[in-house]
Amino acid sequence: MKIETKLDINLSAFNGKTIAVLGLGKSGLPAANALKKFGANILAWDDDVSQRNAAKKQGLPLVDLNNIDMKEVSLMLLSPGIPLAYPSPHPVVNKAKIAGCEIVCDIEILARAEPNAFFVGITGTNGKSTTTALIGHLLNRLGKKAVVGGNIGQPALTLSSMGESGIYVLEISSYQLELLSSATFNLSVLLNISPDHIDRHGSMEGYISAKRRIFSHTSKTIGAIIGVDDTICRDIHKDLSGGETPVIAISAERPICSGVYVEKGWLVDDRYKSKCRIIDLSKVERLPGLHNAQNTAAAYAAVSLILKEDETKLQEVADSISDFPGLEHRQELIAKTNGCRFINDSKATNANATARALECNNNIIWIAGGRAKEGGIEELTSYFSKILHVFLIGESAIEFAKTLEGKAPYSFSGDLIKATEKAIDLAIKEDRPCVVLLSPACSSFDQFPDFETRGKTFRDTVKNLLGNRP
Ligand code: ADP
Repeated sequence: MKIETKLDINLSAFNGKTIAVLGLGKSGLPAANALKKFGANILAWDDDVSQRNAAKKQGLPLVDLNNIDMKEVSLMLLSPGIPLAYPSPHPVVNKAKIAGCEIVCDIEILARAEPNAFFVGITGTNGKSTTTALIGHLLNRLGKKAVVGGNIGQPALTLSSMGESGIYVLEISSYQLELLSSATFNLSVLLNISPDHIDRHGSMEGYISAKRRIFSHTSKTIGAIIGVDDTICRDIHKDLSGGETPVIAISAERPICSGVYVEKGWLVDDRYKSKCRIIDLSKVERLPGLHNAQNTAAAYAAVSLILKEDETKLQEVADSISDFPGLEHRQELIAKTNGCRFINDSKATNANATARALECNNNIIWIAGGRAKEGGIEELTSYFSKILHVFLIGESAIEFAKTLEGKAPYSFSGDLIKATEKAIDLAIKEDRPCVVLLSPACSSFDQFPDFETRGKTFRDTVKNLLGNRP
């Protein structure tokens, strides 16, 4: 994705301040540029020489932060990818901590620069991007001035200045949450928590407490939305309920008294005198599956709070859910032909994410493989009866073949383009409705730089091959 760098957020409060920027990637580089534009004295560094060269080309002053006195620095901007505490802090982070230097990420700077804007923060182990994009879509469709960014799409300091009338809808990862100090979300969304990123948080408790930071400052809060389909989030919901600000429970699995939930496919809002059936989610093609029901319930609840529960607008929200275009690479419907659908789920980089796609589809011609995660596709065996054929690609092919042996037909295709050709040939011969699904259950790094390039390769190949068919 091309990042638009407007740099119109007013950062003059940082004029003359010495700011160390460690990590010059997707968020660090534009943040350093933005701060420099407003007169901050930037000391930029990255351990990777190619990132340093990119920064140098843009005129950023490079200073090896390993060799400076951190007492001279007023603030350190740290890229969320660099360890703050676990498995061990980066040596420069250690120096900054010893010197008592504040360490933050770009979202903290945005919050300080735009104190009058309205901030929605969305976190959770899964579904952050979809929910964030859906909230942004709904708000824009309802005529609100809202931009989406943070851990999705554009990094914080490349977003437009929103001022008093605008809304920042920000996806926030657990790493970013650890790097916030005063940022306050007017509305916070926590979707779910399951074990993840333990290496970076030291323990499950560390991961949970990072996620809980989304609720840490409540002075401007109009509400919180919490998914209660896992026990950890249920406990957090219990802890936070009962105060003055509304805490809305959402569920994709069961009715929730005074909450928002999904029942028999319908999104239901039970916060009014009589419960409102909002929309039949089974008809929303771009948000398939129970996992998206959770995301949609959260997005709907968030938007309804922003609309101040104006019941007359709820139908408009429902209509706008139906025309959500969906996100690229997450069960993205890229083509439909003769009863066959082509779905790009390249973001499914582990078996758990692929399970969601296998759950939602039948008669599946599955393209799987890449660099395998621990456990491979063992946990997917209950879905194998839905599979017509598996075309295996990448490093994991032999391992996955062993799991599939005797349970689902498979063949080795080597790379994604060959697999897609074979999958289309098979789909054309099929006289039942079927699905050609790229959902690798693997990272892309054996054959692609990232999951986006893998998804784009699949999309382009499908379009080319279908275009060349009679
Ligand atoms: P994130 O930004 O948290 O990684 P995404 O919205 O990008 O989440 O979705 C990534 C993958 O995670 C999807 O392809 C889907 O398989 C799975 N997923 C999405 N939403 C949920 C959810 N609410 N619960 C569980 N899994 C989900």
